[in-house]
Amino acid sequence: MWGALKFCVAAALILALAWWVAGLPGEVNIEAGRYHIVTSTALAVVALAVLAVILALLLRGLGGLRRAPRRLAAWRRGRRLRAGDLALQRGLVAVAAGDANGARTEAARAGALLGDEPLVDWLSAEAARLSGDAAARAGFERLTRNPDVRFLGFQGLAREALREGRLDEAARHARAAEAAYPRGGWARNERLEVAVKQEDYAAALALAKEPRARTALAVAAAAQARMPGRALALAREAVKAEPASPVALAALAKAQRGAGKERAARRTLLKGWKRAPHPWLAELWLAPVTDPLARAQAAQKLAAANPGHVESELLLAGTALAARLPGEARRHAEAALRAGNADGRAAAILAQLEGKPPPPFAPAWRCEACHTPEAAWHCLCPACGKIGTLRPNNAGLAPAEG
Ligand SMILES: [Zn+2]
Repeated sequence: MWGALKFCVAAALILALAWWVAGLPGEVNIEAGRYHIVTSTALAVVALAVLAVILALLLRGLGGLRRAPRRLAAWRRGRRLRAGDLALQRGLVAVAAGDANGARTEAARAGALLGDEPLVDWLSAEAARLSGDAAARAGFERLTRNPDVRFLGFQGLAREALREGRLDEAARHARAAEAAYPRGGWARNERLEVAVKQEDYAAALALAKEPRARTALAVAAAAQARMPGRALALAREAVKAEPASPVALAALAKAQRGAGKERAARRTLLKGWKRAPHPWLAELWLAPVTDPLARAQAAQKLAAANPGHVESELLLAGTALAARLPGEARRHAEAALRAGNADGRAAAILAQLEGKPPPPFAPAWRCEACHTPEAAWHCLCPACGKIGTLRPNNAGLAPAEG
């Protein structure tokens, strides 16, 4: 509507102007040397207007020509930047895929196109790291001098040091990386990994957040602690992280006994037997008693904390067998079988009573991450390396360990 109106107004104005020019009276005489031009005023006005338009177009063309080299250079720069960005992207993918050759090619291309950019330096260093080239170290060191990408430099140095087994250096670089970028979780995990490799479980505990990892690290640190008070504090940390973990409860009872708190240790074991009966707890409960008959009586007291549980029946059967009470041993071993014991322990007691060779035991532990069975407890799974993933193998518990 408005467009049509504007068109009508413009057409009317042009028509009026043309009418006015056509109606201009008189003529124009131009003399230039031998030439003498005589024309009407209207034609002269039109010729002047056409000349002005041609002049304006000419000037515009000249300006464009003058700016052409600058525009060409800008276009070329843009094309180079785009090609450089593409090389960087391809290099990132090659690094992520672990393709050393591809990463090196793209790093060289990006370097030629973009020059000394921090990301190009990082890509070159990562490519060198993937190829096992010593230049990687120098590249990462150069990155640590740039405040914007310092983290990437220290991260690369920490990884290199960890890979080559220089654990102190790896820990130092991981700390520097954390200082360069405190909000991220990578440096913390790296420091945790280094501390576990150094078997510095107390330092690892300070860095771990996950409850099962904290339990396992606290138990391992308590076993390392030289002072009884320190061991007790660490064992309490373990129980705090996982109150129903037999590993943590056994560590606490052991630490309490080590610190001369025998009554507290016995309370912990009784409480532990109620929450999570486990051969480790029974072993600690019976440790101060040597006489077989007295051990069978002590076992009854512990089993009374969780009557009818498969572990209680196995404990009673085992101690009765040692005390030469075959009737009691058979009754409890059969009760354990009825309660679902399938790992061979109840069957072994019955076999011994009948003078037969015992069946093989199932491994006592199993990793809940990779499901690998293990005969002994470890702070981290020997198969997958995860911390605190070994759990009692409920399908089969082997005889107690110390
Ligand atoms: Zn595992």
